[in-house]
Amino acid sequence: MASYSEECIFCDLVRDGEHVHTAEGFVAIRDISPQAETHLLVLPERHVSSFPEISEFPAEEAKRMLEFVAETARVAGLEDYRIVVNVGEGAGQTVFHLHWHVLGGRMGGMAG
Ligand code: AMP
Ligand code: ZN
Repeated sequence: MASYSEECIFCDLVRDGEHVHTAEGFVAIRDISPQAETHLLVLPERHVSSFPEISEFPAEEAKRMLEFVAETARVAGLEDYRIVVNVGEGAGQTVFHLHWHVLGGRMGGMAG
């Protein structure tokens, strides 16, 4: 994968993590420190550091990513849920590989 970044924990998890859902170019994993009853993370295989770099995605891939986020919530059994993307350290971003939080059920912490 051309966009693989060394020393990126999420690139490692894309390759070797426990995936709860997958599609071409995307995986979903469980958050290691859940802030809700169900807390999944959707990761594109393509390494981009944050949401503003979404312009690096071909339009078709960006569309499929959004569809994959919705599908991940659906296969997790969620009808009502939150999608969160933290952009930048000041907003709480700690891992600089684009990811979408999918939060459902009882919320705590950031989604309170
Ligand atoms: P953010 O703070 O928006 O960058 O989100 C990063 C998320 O990644 C946090 O909710 C962490 O709990 C989660 N996280 C960090 N390391 C791991 C890991 N090894 N496996 C699963 N989730 C992780
Ligand atoms: Zn990465």
